[in-house]
Amino acid sequence: MQCSKCRRDAVVFQRYSGLHLCEHHFNRDFEAKAKRAIREHRWVESGDTVAVALSGGKDSSAVLFFLRRLFGERRDVRLMAITVDEGIAGYRDPARARAIADSIGVPWVTASFADEYGITLDEIVARKGTGLSCSYCGVLRRALMNRIAREHGVTKFAYGFNLDDEAQSVLMNALRGDADRLTRPMRETEGMVPRIKPFMYIPEREVALYAFLHVEGFDLAGCPYAGDALRGDVRGILDDYTYRHPATKYSLVNLGEALRGTEKNHTEGLRVCERCGELCGKICRTCQVLDEVRRS
Ligand code: SF4
Repeated sequence: MQCSKCRRDAVVFQRYSGLHLCEHHFNRDFEAKAKRAIREHRWVESGDTVAVALSGGKDSSAVLFFLRRLFGERRDVRLMAITVDEGIAGYRDPARARAIADSIGVPWVTASFADEYGITLDEIVARKGTGLSCSYCGVLRRALMNRIAREHGVTKFAYGFNLDDEAQSVLMNALRGDADRLTRPMRETEGMVPRIKPFMYIPEREVALYAFLHVEGFDLAGCPYAGDALRGDVRGILDDYTYRHPATKYSLVNLGEALRGTEKNHTEGLRVCERCGELCGKICRTCQVLDEVRRS
């Protein structure tokens, strides 16, 4: 197939736009969408230090490459990569993430559950089973990322979440009847580092293609504990439906944004954990999790 904009060979077909695109026009289209997301959300400002949460997988590697290309020449925006090693055997090799950050030319730091909490995720799973592995992992990783962010003056965390991830989350919350999550504002909470998602309007397959075109050595393996049955079902339903109705994932992401709205500087109901000093709700979830896993 030929590119719809020139005579070169196409590398991708976008069902939602009806366009075949060559590598050159695919890159232009992809980067224009990611830049527009950043501009419309005012996600990056002069003076920001943006840290990419770099797992070493395709999405985070692609977002690191894109942000380096976008901000590499800017003196008023600093870019770095952070890799958290949860301690999952055979997954998330920090050396791989480091090699990717080095090849893109971005400073890289790492930290591990073992050093920070004295326990790995594998050890937590051995004690508590796999049922809550993602819940424990998410709470501990977020707290660790926030600590590193404070040490390095990070003002924004960049994640490689794509259109498919976002659309799945909206539909999952609807299927669970979770009105709170569907309508919870995308707020910036004082003391917490805001998150940015430049690829949230770009389909997963295009993010994967962008990664293949620009980054070498990223990891394709999945986490052995990623067993969310509902997300797997929702992914299948959405992919099937989107084949016949190509704009569906965009509609869901737009719906999610419309329901959540925006609200800045939300501090209501927050306080500081007496034990570790992190901002929290009534009780710091990180300290709760550590108590749970250490007691068992
Ligand atoms: Fe952690 Fe779950 Fe992600 Fe694995 S899938 S890295 S356990 S949050």
